[in-house]
Amino acid sequence: MTRTAIYPGSFDPVTNGHLDIIRRGAKITDHLLVAVAKDAGKSPMFSIDERVELLSREIDHIKSQGEVTAKIEVVSFSGLLIDFAKSSNAAMIIRGLRAVTDFEYEFQMTGMNRRMNAEIETVFLMASEKNQFIASSMVKEIAKLDGDISGFVPQLIADALTEKCK
Ligand code: ADP
Repeated sequence: MTRTAIYPGSFDPVTNGHLDIIRRGAKITDHLLVAVAKDAGKSPMFSIDERVELLSREIDHIKSQGEVTAKIEVVSFSGLLIDFAKSSNAAMIIRGLRAVTDFEYEFQMTGMNRRMNAEIETVFLMASEKNQFIASSMVKEIAKLDGDISGFVPQLIADALTEKCK
């Protein structure tokens, strides 16, 4: 039986923190769907197509390193995550957890999702020590102010951010 997991987010843009969760999430599942939210409720810097494209290129890079055996796919979705998870036959939702500030939101969302569908479990992977403070929103702010973002995102993403902020 193939075990499918969904890792959802805005990925605006993908950071080293997200990529770490993708690598680790791929170790605990057979099929990882990295699901990019179309209606993220924020006004994104990158369009949905750009976010999917950048993620796909970074995931191709992870695959080329040959360290993951699970199938990893990037998809976009709109509407309720829990409905998308069900229609994708996902057994679990994977989320990354940074400091305490993430906890309250994640706690609430997990509870609501469970009330809507108790079959799908949410699993949390704790952010790695070196990625603990990385957030797409901060990276965008630093890029806008012409700061050095090379420690937070891969080169391809740093270039895309620089291009956006011109
Ligand atoms: P959302 O808008 O759903 O919060 P994000 O793209 O900001 O989407 O994040 C997607 C998921 O990745 C969330 O579970 C978030 O907590 C997690 N995440 C974001 N940054 C990091 C990081 N630096 N380390 C680990 N997990 C992270």
